[in-house]
Amino acid sequence: MSREQEIADGLERVRSRIAAACADAGRDPEEVGLVVVTKFFPASDVKILADLGVTDVGENRHQEAQAKAAECAELPLRWHFIGGLQSNKAAAVASYSDVVESVDRVKLVTGLQRGAHERGHEVDVLLQVSLDPPDREGRAGADPAQLSDLAAAVEEAGALRLRGLMAVAPLGEDPAAAFERLAEIRAGFRADHPDADVLSAGMSGDLEQAIAAGATHVRVGSAVLGERPPIQ
Ligand SMILES: *Cc1c(COP(=O)(O)O)cnc(C)c1O
Repeated sequence: MSREQEIADGLERVRSRIAAACADAGRDPEEVGLVVVTKFFPASDVKILADLGVTDVGENRHQEAQAKAAECAELPLRWHFIGGLQSNKAAAVASYSDVVESVDRVKLVTGLQRGAHERGHEVDVLLQVSLDPPDREGRAGADPAQLSDLAAAVEEAGALRLRGLMAVAPLGEDPAAAFERLAEIRAGFRADHPDADVLSAGMSGDLEQAIAAGATHVRVGSAVLGERPPIQ
C-alpha cells in the first residue's frame, strides 16, 4: 500500500471515530477540529496530509517543528506547538507557530510575545492545565489555581490571543474521569474568559472521552500516521 493510501485510510478511520463520538454526545461534528500530530514523521507525510485536506498539524519538539514548518512553508497549514516549552525557546517557537497549546507558566509569556511581535502575527495561546495530582513527578501543565494569573499575563501581551485550554489525560487514570474534571475546570475558566472557548483534549486512545467532555479540538498522531518511529 502506498503511504498516501495508508494515511488516507488512517484519516478516514479517525474522522469516523470523531463523527461517531459527536453523535453519541449529541454534538455537531463541525464543532470538533482535528489536529494531526506529525512529530517524528517526515515533512513528506505533512504534505500528504495537506493534500488530503488536513488544515492543522501539531509538533512537540522545537527543532523538529521549526525545520518541518520551514520545509512546508508553502502549505496552507496551521502549526500547533503542543510540547514542553523552555522559556529560552519561547520566542523562536512563536515565530513559526500559529497556536501554542502548552503555555503553563507566566515566565513563557514574554518570549512568546516577543517572537509573535517580531514576526508581525498574532499567535493563539492555549493554557495547558494539569490533571495530575499536584505531587506527580514530571507534571506538565499549570495547576488549575494558577490559570487566572496565567490568563491575565497572556491577555496583557498584545501579540497573543487567549483562546482556551489544553490538557492531557494522566497515565493510569480513566480518561473519562480526568476529562470530567477538565470540563469543570473549563466551565470555571469560561465564566471569567467567555471568548476563550477552545478545549484541546483527546489523543488516539481517548478522543471519544474528550469529545464527550466538550473538546473542541483533538490531537491525534498514531491513529492517523501509524506507530511512531522510536526516539533516537
Ligand atoms: C504525541 C502527542 C499527541 C498525539 O498522541 P497519539 O497518541 O499519537 O495520538 C497528542 N498530544 C500531545 C501533547 C502529544 O505530545
